[in-house]
Amino acid sequence: MADATQTLPFRPSQHMSSGFVETSNAESAVAAPRPRKDKKKKKMTTKRSFPYFDDGNLVISAKSESQDRFLFRVHKSILSFHSPVFADMFALPTPADVTNIDSYDGVPLLHMPDPADEVASLLKFMYNLKSFADRRHEPWLPWRARPIMELCKKYEIDGLLDHLKSRIESAWPKTLVEWDALEAEIAHYNDTRGIGDDIVDNQYPEPAMAIMVATQFELDAVLPVAFYHLSRLDTEMDRKYYSEVDDDAFLYRITDGERSANWGCLGADELLTLTRGRERLKSMYYWISRHLDNPAFRCSSDKDTQCSKILSKMRKDFQGQGSQRGDLLEHLKTGFSSTTLEGSGLCFRCTRRLEEEVKEMREILWDDLRGVFFDERFKCEWR
Ligand SMILES: [Zn+2]
Repeated sequence: MADATQTLPFRPSQHMSSGFVETSNAESAVAAPRPRKDKKKKKMTTKRSFPYFDDGNLVISAKSESQDRFLFRVHKSILSFHSPVFADMFALPTPADVTNIDSYDGVPLLHMPDPADEVASLLKFMYNLKSFADRRHEPWLPWRARPIMELCKKYEIDGLLDHLKSRIESAWPKTLVEWDALEAEIAHYNDTRGIGDDIVDNQYPEPAMAIMVATQFELDAVLPVAFYHLSRLDTEMDRKYYSEVDDDAFLYRITDGERSANWGCLGADELLTLTRGRERLKSMYYWISRHLDNPAFRCSSDKDTQCSKILSKMRKDFQGQGSQRGDLLEHLKTGFSSTTLEGSGLCFRCTRRLEEEVKEMREILWDDLRGVFFDERFKCEWR
């Protein structure tokens, strides 16, 4: 098992700053903490920041959170190429009587109201798509991309917005085959992970933030699969606990390969969608179990009694899994896999019939995931 403290993304630094003066002796240690004296107001500084091209014909200024001003020297042509909003702005003729246009370093100065770090990311991205090159399954991708996507929307930078959208979409499987492949990849990664390798949760997509960004930017293909993944997770497994080093229970589970989510970022609508979908998936264990009791699955060979008993036990075991935290796609796959069925004692015909039926069930379920989470009224296929 890898050492969790070496691989987790956050340090508990946010808890270190209490906002109070530290006490230096026993007497003052028990006294009520005194508020820190106001420091002298920090003077605003102006800094040149990348991108700052010597031959640029426009300087953009934007303020950081600490109210420092950052300057970027860029090319109007590049901004116009990406954004009709900038193109229109630069096409406006300067009225003849205007003489006091701001300038810096000999070129016009444009003040942008957006945060400096976001403006920097956007400008770098305009010059180089690879400046935003995360791993395909990077869990923080939606979280990092969202501010840039918002700027792209604001300044109508459609090409770059589409690029980021497809980056987020490509992290999530579009077919059941892709889903099974990703699940197998994750299981393999966890089984073969060495000491020093990152934990699974830091290597694969996080569903809650993906859902929020997918909703905001209409990435419809992401939603059913991200909700399905979220429906498998325990709310105790919250990514916020990464910053709490004393939460041993969380750390043991996460280093064992369990997945977490940014539960706190979900809104009421998303939580309702999740709860509704979870309940529907749970009830499917019952309906599927009943469906497999159908006369169509009765054995036609002499072994009838034996096959009925075996199938009955399998159905019972399967239905029992639904009372725990469900993963219906996984439980159908493992509960009725070729290996399970062939070692079960069922006759050849029953084995094949069941194998095909369950394979088809998984495909129907995958195709129905959107309905499971989003339809106001949903009728289970096997009800
Ligand atoms: Zn049989």
